[in-house]
Amino acid sequence: MAGVTRPVPIVALDVPTSAEALALVHRLGDRCRFYKIGSELFTSEGPSVVRAVRDAGCDVFLDLKFHDIPNTVRAAVRSASALGVRLLTVHAVGGDTMLRAAVEGAGPSCGVLAVTVLTSLEARDVSRAWGRPEVVVHTEVLRLAGSAADAGAHGIVCSGQEVSTVRAALGDRLALLVPGIRPAGAPSHDQARTSTPAEAAAAGARYLVLGRAVTAASDPAAAMTAVNRELGL
Ligand code: C5P
Repeated sequence: MAGVTRPVPIVALDVPTSAEALALVHRLGDRCRFYKIGSELFTSEGPSVVRAVRDAGCDVFLDLKFHDIPNTVRAAVRSASALGVRLLTVHAVGGDTMLRAAVEGAGPSCGVLAVTVLTSLEARDVSRAWGRPEVVVHTEVLRLAGSAADAGAHGIVCSGQEVSTVRAALGDRLALLVPGIRPAGAPSHDQARTSTPAEAAAAGARYLVLGRAVTAASDPAAAMTAVNRELGL
């Protein structure tokens, strides 16, 4: 799946209720057919919101970042896959056995994406959390990306600025999903490392996650149309 060049935009349903989520799905219509459901929406609404987005004819990326013992992660991923989820996240630091268990649980219709180092963490945070004096975040991202590829994961989550080096190191063994997408001139909000849709696509991203660039726009449908045009979709 990783070799396809045309990027897939995914809009983040970062809202607390199914009603708000489905209003956005209907507002965007054919402009977007893939949605991210994260912890906030899933915790408040549960699997029914996944079914509702699928019933609207759209694909679902379930961003719950599983990290547990391999048996539990395999079962959780199997449940997500049975719900019809197309992509989901697990933490790469859960270890090789957990990553392989996730891939087993996902089966052929659901892609496992590994989160390497959260973009909210700086080197000193990682150093304290892992009890290691010298940490270079970029090196850890590449090391964990290698583990994800070896475990047969579909891809990883990374910032737009890491896409080219991960691709240079791992070729197209991994599909790269990039959040923090901002069209040129749009506000970056609290994101430190943003990319435009065209930059992320040119660097080799397979999936682009669009949050506030679309959802907080005065006209979300027009903002999505502009993103699609920039991507040549
Ligand atoms: O509104 P914005 O475009 O910043 O939203 C980005 C979405 O991607 C949010 O749902 C955020 O939680 C998610 N995300 C991220 N950075 C990561 C992983 C996920 O911004 N490293």
